[in-house]
Amino acid sequence: MTTTYHSTRGASPAVPSKQAILEGIAADGGLYVSDQLGEAKLDLATVCSQDYHANARLVLGTLLPDYTPDEIAQSVSAAYGPRFDTPLVTPVTRVGSDWLLELFHGPTSAFKDVALQMLPQLMARAQRSRAAGERVMIVTATSGDTGKAALDGFADVAGTGVTVFYPAGKVSDIQRLQMVTQRGGNVAVCGIRGNFDDAQTEVKRIFADEALRTRLAGRSVVLSSANSINVGRLAPQVTYYFDAYAQLVRAGALAQGDEVDFCVPTGNFGDVLAGYYAKRMGLPVGRLIVASNSNNVLTDFITTGTYDRERDFVKTISPSMDILVSSNLERLLYYLSDGDCDYVAHLMVRLAERGSYTVSDEVIARLQETFSCGFATDAQTREAIRYTWEGSHVLIDPHTAVAKHVLDDRHHSGRQHVCLATASPFKFSSDVLAALGEPTDGLGDFQCMDRLAALTGLTPPAQLSGLRDLPELHQDVCDRDQMGAFVEAACARVFS
Ligand SMILES: *Cc1c(COP(=O)(O)O)cnc(C)c1O
Repeated sequence: MTTTYHSTRGASPAVPSKQAILEGIAADGGLYVSDQLGEAKLDLATVCSQDYHANARLVLGTLLPDYTPDEIAQSVSAAYGPRFDTPLVTPVTRVGSDWLLELFHGPTSAFKDVALQMLPQLMARAQRSRAAGERVMIVTATSGDTGKAALDGFADVAGTGVTVFYPAGKVSDIQRLQMVTQRGGNVAVCGIRGNFDDAQTEVKRIFADEALRTRLAGRSVVLSSANSINVGRLAPQVTYYFDAYAQLVRAGALAQGDEVDFCVPTGNFGDVLAGYYAKRMGLPVGRLIVASNSNNVLTDFITTGTYDRERDFVKTISPSMDILVSSNLERLLYYLSDGDCDYVAHLMVRLAERGSYTVSDEVIARLQETFSCGFATDAQTREAIRYTWEGSHVLIDPHTAVAKHVLDDRHHSGRQHVCLATASPFKFSSDVLAALGEPTDGLGDFQCMDRLAALTGLTPPAQLSGLRDLPELHQDVCDRDQMGAFVEAACARVFS
């Protein structure tokens, strides 16, 4: 089976999953989807009886059928080895009467690692099937965590470069340091004057720039994306929904077949969409709860059916979710409209031209069958951090706290609840310390990290505490309209 993926907007040719991963986004601006999703259900007894690596092989083998079993197996062992600090990769732990799915045990202490340690493996094996000598430049916009995870995943990978744009002044100090201290001869990092949506929109434009594509082809360079629009990032995230379920069954918290609810702190809609994929592939999911911060476009959309990005962008203490255009929603719209590409393309044109769209009653009804929603203000987020520490002795980061608030505030079902924990609390030390009621005035991020460690008796991950000793290597900041030129210059330097 080869040509399985095609664009949500229907105007690009169908391609095998390897090519979809190399391209990142389809040439017509759409996202790659497969109509085979859900045709094969995974066997739950098998899932529950095996470890993370085996579940990753099963999920990836199903979603990316043109990779050989050997290619998948090699990718899984390379991605999920000692760079994760636990062999469970994504352990499930208790929080009160609910569960936390801890997704931050990788090298950059955020959940993006689960996908971005895997994506370079998948890309390298896809490239081998293509023209010899072709080089790939990964271009990525980040709201804070993707950037570092992409840099870490792709640094010094042969035949590959990586360029990251982050919104200057709109990421945490630790997030910025993680990126600007990145070593590697093939990396480029640049702040942009604007917010994440500006960066993401411009990156999409760069991918669609025919003239640039032709110039780069002259140097045997193709561009690709490590953003969650890439199906090679989405597919690895499906694994941990299945694996979390397996852990809960083994812990005796679930009988095989019981439904479970997942509450997901959401920005670009990649993480929660992976939960929807898992459900389509046979995981007994009750509800998927989309938790937003004050940039609550998705809360409004799921409640009313109108997606309206024309509102003020709010800078919050959960910066990786400060997003008004959730790209992966396009994939969900495709599936909920039974694969109606013209309909999806029409909605996306509306969004680009008018800043909003409204879906049909049928689509919204289908959406609400599976998805619930809610949001947390910064005050509610801080409150959730405080009471979770005081009540359950579990320290959570602001993104996880958004989900915790939404879960506790408005979601009650007879099912087990799993909250996705997306970052180490030490990545956001000053906000977490302040949420615990401690003074932070005049303290730098590392002093806050030390205080937080002393207060809680927990040890910050070495890759975060060690940042204070590293030199800052990347100083560039540019305007949105200079990003294309920055990419071209990075290609010239990296592939000289
Ligand atoms: C990226 C990110 C999110 C949001 O995930 P999406 O897939 O963009 O919805 C939530 N929390 C953290 C810590 C993140 O880095």
